[in-house]
Amino acid sequence: MKFRPADEITGYHVHIYYDGATKQWAGHLRREVAKLFPDAEIGRWRDKAPQGPHPQSHYQIAFETELFAHIVPWLTLNRGALDMLVHPNTGDGYEDHANNRMWVGSSLDLRLDYLKQLAEKRKAAKAQKAA
Ligand code: ZN
Repeated sequence: MKFRPADEITGYHVHIYYDGATKQWAGHLRREVAKLFPDAEIGRWRDKAPQGPHPQSHYQIAFETELFAHIVPWLTLNRGALDMLVHPNTGDGYEDHANNRMWVGSSLDLRLDYLKQLAEKRKAAKAQKAA
């Protein structure tokens, strides 16, 4: 196995999972993140689940690598009962969600088959273009 330099990481996502019981706290957290970390990009509520690899309702926070040391510790202290997936973005969605991830709270069963199929479709499309 080869070591990969950390500068392959172009940014991070945190996916914040909620349900009926935790949605209110997820809303408080969202407003506070917007206030404290204005450079972070907060995605819309995704109530519909499953969606893509995500088995539960969630929203996403995207941020630059430099913000990691500030926002992730803050989220761990303020997660309440929320479970969060933290993953780097290196250009390989499957790798980033399956192998390069971290969990805050409990881990969920991601639908990794979905990402694998997506990656295979992209690879096939690329091969077709090259041919
Ligand atoms: Zn993500």
